[in-house]
Amino acid sequence: MIKARRERKAQSNTMRRSKLSVRIAFITILSSLFSILALEFIYVYMQGVVEDYEHVIDVDLNDEELMDSIMVDMHQHQGMVFEHMVEPEKIARQEIMDEAALVEKRLKENMMTLGESVRGTEYEAVFHDIFSDMSTYVKNVKLVVDMTKEHKEQTANVYMVNELIPLVQDMDKQVEKLGDMIHNNVEEVKIKVKSDTDMMRIITYAVLLLLVLSSAFNVSYCIRISNEMVSRDLLTGVANFDHLINVGEKLGKRNRLKNYSGLAISIKDFKFINQEYGSVIGDIVLKSYATALNEKLIRGELLCRNGGDNFLALVEKERVESYLKEINKVPVDVGDKLGLTVTSRCGIYQIAEDDTIYDMVNAGLIAVGETRTSGAQDYVWFRRERRDEMIRRKDILNGYHRAIDEEEFVVYYQPKVNLRTRTLCGCEALVRWIRNGELVPPGSFIPVLENDGKVQELDFYVFDKVCRDISDWQRRGLQPVRVSSNFSKLHLHNKEFAEDVLAVVDKHGADPYYLETELTESSGYEDFNALTHFVSEMKEAGIHTSMDDFGTGYSSLSLLRDIDMDVIKLDRTFLRDQYDAKEEKMVENIVRMIHDLNRHVICEGVETEEQVEFLKRVGCTMAQGFLFDRPLSREDFEKRLINPYYD
Ligand code: C2E
Ligand code: MG
Ligand code: MG
Repeated sequence: MIKARRERKAQSNTMRRSKLSVRIAFITILSSLFSILALEFIYVYMQGVVEDYEHVIDVDLNDEELMDSIMVDMHQHQGMVFEHMVEPEKIARQEIMDEAALVEKRLKENMMTLGESVRGTEYEAVFHDIFSDMSTYVKNVKLVVDMTKEHKEQTANVYMVNELIPLVQDMDKQVEKLGDMIHNNVEEVKIKVKSDTDMMRIITYAVLLLLVLSSAFNVSYCIRISNEMVSRDLLTGVANFDHLINVGEKLGKRNRLKNYSGLAISIKDFKFINQEYGSVIGDIVLKSYATALNEKLIRGELLCRNGGDNFLALVEKERVESYLKEINKVPVDVGDKLGLTVTSRCGIYQIAEDDTIYDMVNAGLIAVGETRTSGAQDYVWFRRERRDEMIRRKDILNGYHRAIDEEEFVVYYQPKVNLRTRTLCGCEALVRWIRNGELVPPGSFIPVLENDGKVQELDFYVFDKVCRDISDWQRRGLQPVRVSSNFSKLHLHNKEFAEDVLAVVDKHGADPYYLETELTESSGYEDFNALTHFVSEMKEAGIHTSMDDFGTGYSSLSLLRDIDMDVIKLDRTFLRDQYDAKEEKMVENIVRMIHDLNRHVICEGVETEEQVEFLKRVGCTMAQGFLFDRPLSREDFEKRLINPYYD
């Protein structure tokens, strides 16, 4: 289920990313298209402008040249007519007129070309005036020529001066007028081209600016999106763990982190929600829950998701109580009319002056972890001792494997004494850890290993050494005593526990008679069955079993009745400095009952002769305690085997 959920989450993340990519691509394509269109528009427009310009420059200026050559021809023709009038020689006159006819022909052709060129333009009217002047001139020039032929030079001269010269002058004026018009038009076009070019320049700049802006927008959008991807939790949209760390580090640098409390928040029984409603609803719950938690924060505060249903928040110190009240019960909307209200668990840590954001995270997590222990409140304030404890536990667990490999664990033996004869009658194997040259007592690491499920290995390590030592003592001719080894009740979960024990015994060829297994009294039906099985297996193999710390558990009496253990070890809580009659009676009866059930009884933790006397009075004849011996190294214990008397 978790795998499927992860896959779904990965899919939805991929979908979000591809949606964002599509958005970025869309904006990029759109702005590029727009820019291309704008540039294309500028290009087409400029082409029009250039065509206009070309028309005026090429066509109009050609016309102007043509007009100039027409006028040159006019004046040349006129000159020839004058020349003709003053030429006395007939042949020469004819030559002049032939030449004049050529000029006239060229003049007419050029007029025709000009006429074609200006047809339909604004210059047409002026052209017609010039044309009619020219036609009148050509017609009248014939009269002048005829008059000359008839030797009426005088009249021809007058006619020439009064009629033809004004005509040519008028033509000049008309041509000048046409020239001015063309010049004006060229000027106009020049001005227009300039203003159009200026406008296009502005448009081009605007388009380029737009391009730059859209690229800047794209870049900033990409940066924002990638920042968001880096700093946001993709499922819930709140900040992610990295972002919290970044913000926390910045606050720390500005010495403002101390103004906050760190909260580690999780949903109570979220596992159940996932199992009951499925992971899709689970995700919806997470999203709504995160949104609700986030909405209740104020500016400057921060919530991040730390995987699963775990959140971390930085909340201003004085607002913590009110925030906790607000998030205690959070209604979440999961659609389909399914209303859910989720309860929060929270570990709270008051950030101190020199704390880093990591201190806050660790402390918050430790505190929220405590809310999970049975009977704990939903809100737990972090206690500093708890952190020290965690560090200690970590240290033990970290050093454990190396300690096993390098044989840092050693077995000590604490003698058991027959109180009647005051002689050695057995011993208990107790483990010690020689760590960095120091002897560490088991009380500080056994519970940690037990909690982490690692103690079983150590128990067998100890038991292995015990079996080895017993065989060794026998081989060396030392008379051994029965050695009890401690086994955690966690072994009872192992169906092959008894077989494993016997395998070690076989391995060393140890005599089962000298072996005893101590188990702390346990409760619970499951343990009970496993314990019964184990005890009968041991009995069959000839190994003693003993119930350790009797009197500290819950179902001592029923265990005593139902499980056939050989030895009952009274816990040292039975021993006091002073006893009253009632108490003595009670212990006496317990001891008698154990004897009646055919079990041995031994009391541990005997430190004074008064306690020995007390035990004797109540009928307990075996004891273990500092009064006789502390747990001894193997070498010291071997001396005790040689001299087993306590005087
Ligand atoms: P336990 O099995 O009840 O062992 C008896 C403890 O009482 C030992 O503590 C012993 O040193 C201590 N003791 C004996 N006589 C006296 C006395 O006169 N006064 C006082 N105050 N204490 C006395 P130790 O060696 O520190 O072991 C503590 C516990 O650690 C043991 O309690 C046992 O539960 C556990 N333990 C020791 N070795 C092993 C082991 O190899 N495996 C497991 N699972 N637990 C072990
Ligand atoms: Mg014990
Ligand atoms: Mg004990």
